Amino acid sequence: MDKVSVLFAASEVAPFAKVGGLADVAGSLPKALSKLGVDVRVVMPKYKDISKIYLDKMEYVMHFFVDIGWRHQYVGLFKYISDNVTYYFIDNSYYFCRKGLYGYFDECEQFTFFTRAFIEMLPLIKFKPDVIHLNDWQTAIAPLFLDAFYKSNDYYKNIKTIYTIHNLKYQGIFPKTVLEDVLGLGWEYFKPSGIEFYDNVNLMKAGIIYSDYVNTVSPTYAEEVLSAPLGEELNNVLAEKGERFFGILNGIDNDLFNPATDRSIYQKYDKENLSEKVKNKLGLINELGLSQDIKAPLIGIVSRLVDQKGFDLIVECLEDILKDGINLVVLGTGDGKYEEMFRNYSSKYPNRLIFLNTFNADMAQKIYAGVDMFLMPSHFEPCGLSQLISLRYGTLPIVRETGGLKDTVIPYNEYDDTGYGFTFTNYNAQDMLFAIRRAVRFYNNPSTWEKLMQRAITLDFSWNTSAREYLEYYFKASGEKNNAENENEYKRH
Ligand code: ADP
Repeated sequence: MDKVSVLFAASEVAPFAKVGGLADVAGSLPKALSKLGVDVRVVMPKYKDISKIYLDKMEYVMHFFVDIGWRHQYVGLFKYISDNVTYYFIDNSYYFCRKGLYGYFDECEQFTFFTRAFIEMLPLIKFKPDVIHLNDWQTAIAPLFLDAFYKSNDYYKNIKTIYTIHNLKYQGIFPKTVLEDVLGLGWEYFKPSGIEFYDNVNLMKAGIIYSDYVNTVSPTYAEEVLSAPLGEELNNVLAEKGERFFGILNGIDNDLFNPATDRSIYQKYDKENLSEKVKNKLGLINELGLSQDIKAPLIGIVSRLVDQKGFDLIVECLEDILKDGINLVVLGTGDGKYEEMFRNYSSKYPNRLIFLNTFNADMAQKIYAGVDMFLMPSHFEPCGLSQLISLRYGTLPIVRETGGLKDTVIPYNEYDDTGYGFTFTNYNAQDMLFAIRRAVRFYNNPSTWEKLMQRAITLDFSWNTSAREYLEYYFKASGEKNNAENENEYKRH
């Protein structure tokens, strides 16, 4: 077999709709796979918030109906082709004509609808993928649905599934009443070796059990989740997958994140003229009203403001950081307690701490390019893309050694002159402060800093390697599919 076909299903895909790293991955991995010869089609919901630029370019394909428990719901199907990848959009204004992507009371029903719709569209569009690639809890129920509703339908026979967990923290746990009412399943699936989880329904657990392969997005996180506490009570279920559970490091889209061509930033630059980078710092200082001291170290944060990202450590030593003469720019939305904390500090230190309480992709790019250091002291981190984007822009990361941060940020060692970042191990504010102060010490030595920036901007965290790893698993899975098909053929004769 020389060509493999894949349906890639995700609840967010950049540039159409994005909340976090899942969208970046779903926007860039399929493109990389397509370059490797994979027939890859992406499917996502047609959200109201998708920019008009894309809505106008979408083409209506067809409509059909799916059953969600006792409901019979309309599915509009749209498509858009870009970079050799076909994107399908599942439309239903009742489920997706809402502000934002997540957090509604009927999330289970919304994404059950999405999942049933993309499974049932396959014969209608005459696309029979070798593999369906699922992502996070929103699409995790697909392999169980294939087992429950489509087993006897020849069209779906032997389609293999790979399930990627981008964050084990968000599992899609719902009261057991959804089992019949929304999922339309019989109680035979409500068992410890099935979808049952502490007397609730857990969609991620079903995804792990019923998928042929399961992975997460960095080798270290794949190891960490095999035990408590990062296993989030699913460590044993993951361990049971054995070699069918593994870690593949995420990549970034090097064309999209490229300081040499990025139209969002104040001044383009590359490794040959890295000295131009400072104009981006000046741009930020002027646009945001930061103190005019260009020499003062500037730390950036672009993040969801949630516990996972280590904000309690930042709360603990923010005064110390500011008293050290370091300035900060923080872009993010999330938990009220962190939003309030940054709001308070920014009024106390008006030109020293700028807090932008919004989601703004353009401003994110300006920050990656304009700051000297990027702070990401995560409590846990499945992969983390922000540190990779920072490195691509020659901005040095300060991170906690966990998950993908540990796999991607090599700490600078001045004795053997290796590494390019600043790291700490224990989840502890003083250790973080120590790492920040160490970074500032080298920042104050321009020749060392310049060398580290050069090192960072030269690194390659594109999909080159990781897309091939996914491809290997697709081949493995479709090989199993072909073996199964040959066996059936043999039995029939
Ligand atoms: P996670 O997926 O846990 O949120 P990642 O580091 O994997 O974290 O990916 C986060 C992505 O979302 C990055 O591309 C980052 O730039 C982007 N992002 C996060 N917050 C914002 C924001 N407020 N505005 C713009 N982009 C943001």
